[in-house]
Formats: sequence, C-alpha cells, structure tokens
Amino acid sequence: MSTPDLVVGIDLGTTNSSIAVVKDGGVTVIPVEGQPSMPSAVGLDPAGRLVIGRAAKNQSVSAPENTLLSIKRLMGTDQTVLLGGKSYRPEEISALILGELKRAAEAHLGRPVTHAVITVPAFFNERQRQATQDAGSLAGLEVLRIINEPTAAALAYGAGSSGNLERETLLVFDLGGGTFDVSLVSVENGVVEVRASHGDTHLGGDDFDLLLAAEGEKRFLEKHPGATLLATTRLRLKAAMELAKIQLSDAPYSAVREEYLTEAGHLDTELARSDYESLIEPLLEKTLDCLQRSLSDAGVTAAQVDKVMLVGGATRTPFIHALLADRLGKEPRHEINPDLIVAMGAAIQGAALAGQPAPAILIDITAHTYSIQAIMTDENKGWGTVLGCVPIVRRGTPLPVRKSESFSTIKDNQKGIDVTVFQGEDILPEGNLEIGKFKFDGLAAVPSGNSVLVEFQIDLNGLLKVTATEKHTGLAKTAVIDTAGHHRLNLDAARTNLAALFDEADSPQPWDKDSDDDGLDFDADSGATTVPLQLVDSKPAAPAGLLAAAKSLRHRAEALLERGVAESDAQDIRARLGEISSAVQSSDWPGLTTQTDQLSDVLFYLED
Ligand code: ADP
Ligand code: MG
Repeated sequence: MSTPDLVVGIDLGTTNSSIAVVKDGGVTVIPVEGQPSMPSAVGLDPAGRLVIGRAAKNQSVSAPENTLLSIKRLMGTDQTVLLGGKSYRPEEISALILGELKRAAEAHLGRPVTHAVITVPAFFNERQRQATQDAGSLAGLEVLRIINEPTAAALAYGAGSSGNLERETLLVFDLGGGTFDVSLVSVENGVVEVRASHGDTHLGGDDFDLLLAAEGEKRFLEKHPGATLLATTRLRLKAAMELAKIQLSDAPYSAVREEYLTEAGHLDTELARSDYESLIEPLLEKTLDCLQRSLSDAGVTAAQVDKVMLVGGATRTPFIHALLADRLGKEPRHEINPDLIVAMGAAIQGAALAGQPAPAILIDITAHTYSIQAIMTDENKGWGTVLGCVPIVRRGTPLPVRKSESFSTIKDNQKGIDVTVFQGEDILPEGNLEIGKFKFDGLAAVPSGNSVLVEFQIDLNGLLKVTATEKHTGLAKTAVIDTAGHHRLNLDAARTNLAALFDEADSPQPWDKDSDDDGLDFDADSGATTVPLQLVDSKPAAPAGLLAAAKSLRHRAEALLERGVAESDAQDIRARLGEISSAVQSSDWPGLTTQTDQLSDVLFYLED
C-alpha cells in the first residue's frame, strides 16, 4: 500500500464530532457549517429530508421522535434505531456523521479526503473499535488507525514528539456531554501508553443540564403554581439551561428567559454560578472517586503526575478546574481548546502516518494570570481574611478571552471601589505586578453586599479591557491596559503636566470636566477613601477578630458544659451556641456580635 499524502484526524464524539488536519506545519480544525465542531446528531426534517449536525440537534427539541442523538453509546451492540420508520445499525448512523465531516473537509481543502485516524474512548472494547472502523469504511474512509482519546489528547500536548525522552505521566480528565473518563497516560521514548482508565459512561454535561432544568422547573412552578410541563417543554427548558450553563463558564450570572414556557407564562430567572456549582457538586464527587481509582490502579500518586490535561466541553466549567487543582495540587492545562484537542491529536497521528514531520500546535495564550485585588475569606484553607488577588483570567487561557467575576462592597452606602489589576501567579498583591488601577465611583447608596461585576477582555494583541459594572443599576466604567509591558498613558497626569507647561494650571481647561466615562483614568488619585472589593462567593468578611472571639467563647462554653452546670443554664448555653453557628453560617456578622456578647455575659457569671 502506498503512503497516503493526507490523513485527517476525527473525534467521533457522543455529543459533538470534529475533524482536523495537519497543514503547512500546523494543525487546523476544519469548520463544519462555520463551527469548529458538529453535533453528533442525525434526523429527518418535517419534509422527510436527512439532516445531520446542527440542524438535527436544533430539531431534537421540537421533533425528538425524528432525531437520533448519542449513537456512539450503541456502537458495538446489535441494537438498531428507527428513523422514518426504517431501522438502522449504529455503524450506519455513525457513517452519516463521518460522511458529513469528510464532505466539510473536502470542501475546505479542495481535494478528496480518503484516509483517516478516528478516536475512541480508552474503555472501548474490540467490538466497539471494529464498529467504529466499519462506520469509517461505510463513509468512504480508509481508517488507518483507531486511537484512544486520551492518547490523542497527549499527542496534542506534544507528547511523543522527538526530543522528549524523559518519562512523563499525564492525567487526562475527559468530561464530555454524556460520558466521563479519566486516564493515566505515560509517555516514554516517544511511546504514548494508556496505563489506567476509569469512568462513568452515563455522566457528563447532559446530566448537568438536567439538574439545571429541574431547578428551572422548580422556579417556574413557584411563580406559576399548578402549571403543567409537557415532555417537549422540558426539552426546551433543558436546551435553554445548556446555553445558560455555557455562559456561566465565563460569567458569574446568566439570565434565562423563555417566552411562554407554558400557557401559564414566561420563564424569567437568573442563574448564579454558585447555584450551578452546588447542583453539580455531588456528580463531580463521583468523578473525583474515579480519578482516585485510576491513580491507584496505575500505582501513581497525585504528586507523581506531571501534567493534568482537561478534555471535553464540560471541563470549561471553572469549578471543575478548581476542584482538580485543589485535589491534585497542580493547575490543569487548558491551553488547547478542550473540545477540539482530541481531533487535533488524531490529526497529528494522521500526519505521522502520512510521513509528515511532527507539527506543533500554535496557540495564543496568556502568559500570566490576571487578577484584581479584593478581600478574600477562606475558612477552609485557614487564611482567615486577607487582601488578595482574585484571578479573573488564568495563565494559559487561549486568546481572545472574555471573563467576568462578581464582587461585593463591604460597607453600607459604599460609594466607590478601587479596581486594581495585577499580573502574576501569587495570591498576595506583594508577589504580583500591579499593571493598572481605576476608581469606580457613583455606586448607589445601598447596604453592603452591592454586587459589582468585573469583566476582563484580552485581545490577540494583549490589550486588556477592564469593565466594572454595578449589577443592579448597570452603571459601568472601562479602562484599557496594555499587558505587553508599559502602562498606557495616564491622561490625568499628562494633562496636569501639559497644563503646567503653559502655566495655566489654575484656569479651567476643556479637559477638566468630569472624566468619569472616558475610560482612561486609572492610576487615578490614590488617596482613595473607598474600601476594596470582596468576593461574593465567600460572603461578606467577618469583622476582624470576631470569628476568633466566637471560637474561643465556644471552647469556654463547651468546657463549662463538660464540667457540669444547672440544666437550665446548659439549655441556655446550647441555644446560644446554636444561634452563633447559624450566624456564622449565614455570615450574619451583626447577629454574631450580639450573640457572642450575650454568651460572653452568661459565661462570665457561670464560670466563677
Ligand atoms: P462529547 O465528547 O461527549 O462529544 P464534548 O466534549 O463536545 O462532548 O462536550 C459536550 C458537553 O460540553 C455538552 O454537555 C456541553 O453543554 C458542554 N459544554 C460545551 N461548552 C461548554 C462551556 N463553555 N461550559 C460548560 N460546558 C460546556
Ligand atoms: Mg469527547
């Protein structure tokens, strides 16, 4: 057999599929209908015509009976599926998906595409692999190799390329739409090998959507008691929730609106990232159990893992990133788009089979973490309360990027905040480089806890646009910082400088008017009277010393209860301890102050 000169790589996914190729020394993901990946969906439209990809996924809500999703689950079985009254084997439906990808590649490259590498999960057995190979043949592709998805991910990160002789242990955490698996991959002398793989074939982003849809339904029924939701309404709700979930990967809140969800009325609600995180946490615990099992199967400790790689669209949820960083003690790699990495790795394998030199994946990423200064409380980590840097865009994030986080004021009637932007990996400002600062004034006179969203947008040139928005009024202010080095000109300082030159500093100048919305007055007067921001997720910070005082009182009270006091006193003490716990839990600091004062008095009388 002669060596083919072009071998494409295909990620035939449960939810989405994509196709990539090595071209001009780099890896290109080929767009399908303008999108980098295509839903793995096949259907018949109302006119009975075959639809594949986006159109099929879109109609899955209105015409579920004419749409096939997640066919990959049936690969390697004898089950058949019905479409338009005819039955099909899973290989046949998969072949339609592969054929669509092949056509997109041919249109893009302007030439026939005949050879491919296709990926499968590491846990696929021989039958499932054979079925995948057969689907390829049916689509007119000669499948040169079936490779494991985690292997492809490792290849995309440069594993196995020459010059990389050290033995490396990689952990690939792949959370897709409907399946999860975690694999330990070792790379030595250019050989990539999956050493252990565990997972759950029924756990993924889809399950998150279902939990969110149930939450949406609950909220809707609270507003419209007695409304009935049909099966198709629930599908609509789930689709809306999936969009909201995707937004929550980049922003702390997401609005969900569905006109006339039922005849009873609209669904109009706001999802907070923290709501979403608490909903999915139990499912994520399961993934961490699998992770643990993979580590022990491979006889590897977390510390011995060299790289953690995120694969699958669902790993874009920042909470997952944070959980893994916490559990494994290292930041997971996310430079390569997690939903395209498998196709890219397959293309690299394909290029190797076509005898092409190993390409590198070139991507623009942020070289640093960008954060703003805020008060952080983290009881679990035992820092107490610190003035720290809260990351908004992490190192290694592909550009361009747009992400936001929510903060809140800590004083009643707080009129303004300082937005101070840092570059660097340290949790403390002292360890980072301050690259810009502006004052955001004119906030509404409301109690503490006023939400301010801070959005970072970084373009391919490294220009960072920072926008602070008061959530309930929409009042906003923007500044632009050049992350490539120097700060942008401080206009206020320059104006004063120039004015001094003409010795006219005292007379009013056209530029002396309020510059609140010119967006450029960072490094503004730093005699700021405002207090820093604070993380919303961790609730308002306790006044200094209050928690410590409450804790020491609790110890005294418990010691006293152990020594024995009159039952009525014991009851009183227990009740007050209960009040203290709930005040701590709900961050009710004024309440906590009152309760600790009172308990202190009681103890004072009883201890003598
Ligand atoms: P599969 O490997 O199953 O084909 P993908 O890797 O394409 O799946 O992942 C699809 C899942 O990723 C879906 O559940 C989708 O909602 C989810 N997803 C895609 N983008 C995001 C995002 N930005 N944030 C959170 N989840 C996302
Ligand atoms: Mg996948």
